[in-house]
Amino acid sequence: ASGSHVPALVIGTGYGGSVAALRLAQAGVDVHMVEMGMSWDTPGSDGKIFANTKSPDDRSFWLRTRTKQPLSNFLGFPIDKNVNKYTGILDAEEFGGITVYQGRGVGGGSLVNGGMAVTPQRDRFSGILPSVDAAEMYSTYYPRANAGLGVTDVPLAWWESAACYKYARVGRKHAERSGFPHVFVPNVYDWDYMAQEAAGSVTKSALAGEVIFGNNHGKKTLPKTYLAQAKATGRVAISPLHEVTSVTPRSGGGYTVAIRQLSTTGGTVATKTVTADRVFFAAGSVGTSKLLVKLRATGALPNLNGEVGKGWGDNGNVMCGRANHMWDATGTIQSSMPSTGIDNWGAGGAFAEVAPIPTGIETYASLYLSITNTPRRAEFSWNAATGGVDLSWQAAWKQDSITMAKTIFDKINKKEGTIYRTDFFGGTKVWNDQLTYHPLGGAVLNKATDNYGRLRGYAGLYVIDGSLIPGNTSVNPFVTITALAERNIEKIITTDL
Ligand code: FAD
Repeated sequence: ASGSHVPALVIGTGYGGSVAALRLAQAGVDVHMVEMGMSWDTPGSDGKIFANTKSPDDRSFWLRTRTKQPLSNFLGFPIDKNVNKYTGILDAEEFGGITVYQGRGVGGGSLVNGGMAVTPQRDRFSGILPSVDAAEMYSTYYPRANAGLGVTDVPLAWWESAACYKYARVGRKHAERSGFPHVFVPNVYDWDYMAQEAAGSVTKSALAGEVIFGNNHGKKTLPKTYLAQAKATGRVAISPLHEVTSVTPRSGGGYTVAIRQLSTTGGTVATKTVTADRVFFAAGSVGTSKLLVKLRATGALPNLNGEVGKGWGDNGNVMCGRANHMWDATGTIQSSMPSTGIDNWGAGGAFAEVAPIPTGIETYASLYLSITNTPRRAEFSWNAATGGVDLSWQAAWKQDSITMAKTIFDKINKKEGTIYRTDFFGGTKVWNDQLTYHPLGGAVLNKATDNYGRLRGYAGLYVIDGSLIPGNTSVNPFVTITALAERNIEKIITTDL
């Protein structure tokens, strides 16, 4: 309620926020979590909580009147359609040079992501976060994060014959025939549930193509893991459809937090202010960066340093499809949870996930989301004229990532005698180079914050999400975000509370 006081306020309910809430609560601290998205616990008129990937509806996108699908075309035909403006689950947030996809709702990105739970190779970690003790991360915090998230390995014997992973086996064959290391990628999806989906004994979710607009079954999202545990302590409250708009120091200590309550069409239902001893920014790389840059520029938090807003990257994301020969059919039923990757990071700067095309028909296509080692980094800045935050990303920068991804797919195409598909991204585009699923950075560890996420200039303010990571993790990011949050919150609890 407006006017109330909380010991710890957490902005956002994604990975960083959920770790902070659970560990603080276990240490005896009462926590209030503020989440701009919905709670996603009530079925719609179709009896399902989440819409299907193939048939987006009002629930699918955050406050848009037209869908913005990552694969904009199917067999060459544009598939975007009009929807009603609603606080839907996937935000396609548009900046000048890039569209940043993010989850909105209690559970953040865990609601919409592919569940790929990848720990980076240890020898690559020091290039990602040089000020962090890698030995500690790999002995303590990565294992803790993997356990907390419910990460498990692909059941290999089942996978080898499962029809829903035919596309991944084709991906492996092509990778190996071109001499690339092929790796299995753990996931948070319940593999037993998926096997039952394949056997036809339970309601299909991954095998019905559910993913970017939510999974109705099978995926261990944060509301089923960290947030369930956090709620069970009795010390954590969550306010969905509430957006933090300001944080300012309060005379006498602590902070005043301004909050806007949203209607499901995005309007303002009420504005509230609460006070908190400590505030954890866990609004995601874009959400946290936008807030901090605005608060510094508008005088609410003027002592935030010049590193705030810097070091933002797209994890080098680019997508492409390849046209297979008729003998390399990829299957009509494809699990929406990717299970494998092609690792050419060392030689070519690219790690490619073998992605599904869960359309229900045979496409003879292989789709890949590459993560590449691009050095490009952008900066968020306050735009006084628009009253918004801009990002200096340049669309042309993606060429670096394309060049790196091509070290894999040009070689595979040559070996297989195949070509790129041109019917997925509009026109005759081969590369989807206009988006990222993996925003990282903007409040980089040991720069904008100290080495544990304490914001420099303000005692009691912390950053604990993907904005701490300077633009790249060499693999899919959420395990690293979670592990770093586990490391930082442990230090904060032992030394600051
Ligand atoms: P988030 O999870 O983004 O959480 C931030 C939360 O804060 C959100 O719920 C947001 O609504 C809320 N918020 C923002 N601003 C405010 C505000 N002002 N007030 C209140 N609340 C606010 N990663 C992987 O590792 N593996 C994958 O397979 C994978 N697949 C992906 C697929 C898709 C389609 C997408 C979009 C992402 C995928 N990712 C994947 C990326 C992963 O989900 C993100 O890296 C991760 O969720 C980021 O965690 P976070 O804690 O930094 O923030």
